[in-house]
Amino acid sequence: MNEHALRAAARPAASGGKLTFAGDAGFHAEIKRRVLEYFQRTGLSERDSPRMYVKTAALLLWCGASYALLVFAATTWWQGALLSFSLALAMAGIGFGIQHDANHGAYSSHRAVNRLMGLTLDLLGGSSYLWRFKHNVLHHTYTNVVSADDDINLSPLGRLSPAQPRYRLHRLQQFYLWALYGFLVLKWHWVYDFKNVARGRIARNRFPRPRGWSLVELIGGKVLFAGWVFVIPALFHPWWIVLLYYAATAFVLGLVLTVVFQLAHCVEEAEFPEPLPGTDRLPAAWAVHEVQTTVDFARASQWLTWYVGGLNFQIEHHLFPRISHVHYPRIAVIVQAVCAQFGVRYAAHESVVGALSSHWRWLRRMGRPAARGSTDESAAWPSRLGDTLRPV
Ligand SMILES: [Zn+2]
Repeated sequence: MNEHALRAAARPAASGGKLTFAGDAGFHAEIKRRVLEYFQRTGLSERDSPRMYVKTAALLLWCGASYALLVFAATTWWQGALLSFSLALAMAGIGFGIQHDANHGAYSSHRAVNRLMGLTLDLLGGSSYLWRFKHNVLHHTYTNVVSADDDINLSPLGRLSPAQPRYRLHRLQQFYLWALYGFLVLKWHWVYDFKNVARGRIARNRFPRPRGWSLVELIGGKVLFAGWVFVIPALFHPWWIVLLYYAATAFVLGLVLTVVFQLAHCVEEAEFPEPLPGTDRLPAAWAVHEVQTTVDFARASQWLTWYVGGLNFQIEHHLFPRISHVHYPRIAVIVQAVCAQFGVRYAAHESVVGALSSHWRWLRRMGRPAARGSTDESAAWPSRLGDTLRPV
């Protein structure tokens, strides 16, 4: 099933109806016009960048070499630890830099190439079918809206939005959630995908269960994954060593994937809009909503931009998910200029450390009760925009 059909089948709802956005005063049209003009002027292609093919080869080679050395060559625990760390980073790199573009249709203009590259996610133990619904539809359309965006749902252990219930244990969430991030991939590999398919829902949102070839891909991917992660290594090593290294690799992978996501959406500067009281209508237009709920970080770091597949430019990614991430740094200049023109706040942390600190402060804030007399928790805390953001 393609993304359009998935989108049509989606029923994210606050009170039963489909969520809608406010009208747009020309902001989205102007950004699209300026970005299109950029591609026409430069003659660049939005997809099929040669840089992406080189990057794909490099990441797959990195992953394959780390795995082969870990399983067939490592003889000491510290060699194993280093190689398992390297394998986790390479797998995260494939997640950021290959499957993400491909499953958005941003890797190539050829559908078959996108499908093939998108299958790297299945090879890594995920499901590209479920991802296209959970990520492309729910997360990208209703970013940071509690009833629809399952990516911000860590309940009951974590509270990421003011609209989620607060429990006493959340007072310490800025300390313990990091460990939970590490376990998310384990859950994703062996619980989440199966549970969602069995229920036909992701959180409260229905989606069409995979059938035919999509089902073959999903099950085939899990079987292949189990084969290279457990069966082959177990032919050469005791089973408990295999399990130990799998758990360690999955933990680092989960931590890296989740933290990169959190730095874009769960920081002090990101907003968490909810439908206006008694309605299914969100307060801002869609494109404005995406800019308000997303924050860029470390935009000057070329190596980080390469490694995280441009996800440090998530504002640009959310506005143009079908354009290859290699173009985001240039598109960011246009997006920032149009935001200034329309009075839409554009936020970007200068460094990873700045973004990490902001995420930590946001977790701490969400874990504490609202100040007395305040119904809006965010109003109880001063904004740190001035301290942490690059002037725009
Ligand atoms: Zn995306």
